[in-house]
Amino acid sequence: MTDFIKVKNLVFDYIKGEEGQAVRAIDDISFDVKKGSFTAIIGQNGSGKSTLAKNINGLLTPTSGKLSVDGLDVALPENIWEVRSRVAMVFQNPDNQIVSSIVEDDVAFGPENLGIDSAEIRERVDDALRGVEMYQYRKKAPHLLSGGQKQRIAIAGAVAMEPDCIVFDEPTAMLDPRGRGEVLSAIKKLNSKGITVILITHFMEEAAQADKIMVMDKGKIKMEGTPEEIFKRGRELKELCLDVPAAVELAMKLRGKGLHIPEDILTENDMVRFLCQ
Ligand code: ADP
Ligand code: MG
Repeated sequence: MTDFIKVKNLVFDYIKGEEGQAVRAIDDISFDVKKGSFTAIIGQNGSGKSTLAKNINGLLTPTSGKLSVDGLDVALPENIWEVRSRVAMVFQNPDNQIVSSIVEDDVAFGPENLGIDSAEIRERVDDALRGVEMYQYRKKAPHLLSGGQKQRIAIAGAVAMEPDCIVFDEPTAMLDPRGRGEVLSAIKKLNSKGITVILITHFMEEAAQADKIMVMDKGKIKMEGTPEEIFKRGRELKELCLDVPAAVELAMKLRGKGLHIPEDILTENDMVRFLCQ
């Protein structure tokens, strides 16, 4: 697989106050994201996750280092629109992302701004809504929908722009368990269709479903690996105030009692499958 995002020695400073004091939010990080992959980013509040996300889609410009998206250097102003058309973002609060009073108009908003013709917009909106299982709600008012449904509308809006990659910044943080499940299935479905996914999350069960996890702390990448590799390092995660998924915790306890539980049990579903095989 080719690299879709390449990050080398990236630094980002916010400039604060009247004296222009620099706050280092990203502290010299390097990593790559393969085209079509699913990467989860975890880390405590303030570790730099959102700042990284905004550097990737050109909302913020790197202070130093290199960041390229599909070969395009994000620091060059002439590349910004191209970068934003390839990398869409979905944020935490669906209410802040919905702009229209009818679902299908909301999903059409992005492609309309790209100047796409109306027949094509119609097709993209319908496809995007079907993709997140919200087509039947296309004539409804978004404010009447549940949190999970609203977030899926926001995702459909991103999909309708036909990006190569979507960065999700804690998309399930404001949702109930059911809404979280709906949104995660929508994300996995998009990834299975070839969209590169970067998911920032506080939920370890969600991170467990990625191909790769990056753990951030104080602007640095502290750990990087497959979910299995990362969640084996429970003690180090605890030191960073992070947990392992409940199923991993349970597997460890059962192993402590002498039961043989395979290392690749990461989620509740894995555990059920193993115990009921
Ligand atoms: P996370 O998303 O992991 O919670 P952020 O990327 O939001 O972390 O923040 C990283 C660091 O940058 C924190 O120390 C935060 O206080 C600081 N920061 C974030 N946004 C701003 C801003 N607009 N101005 C100044 N500092 C900021
Ligand atoms: Mg954040």
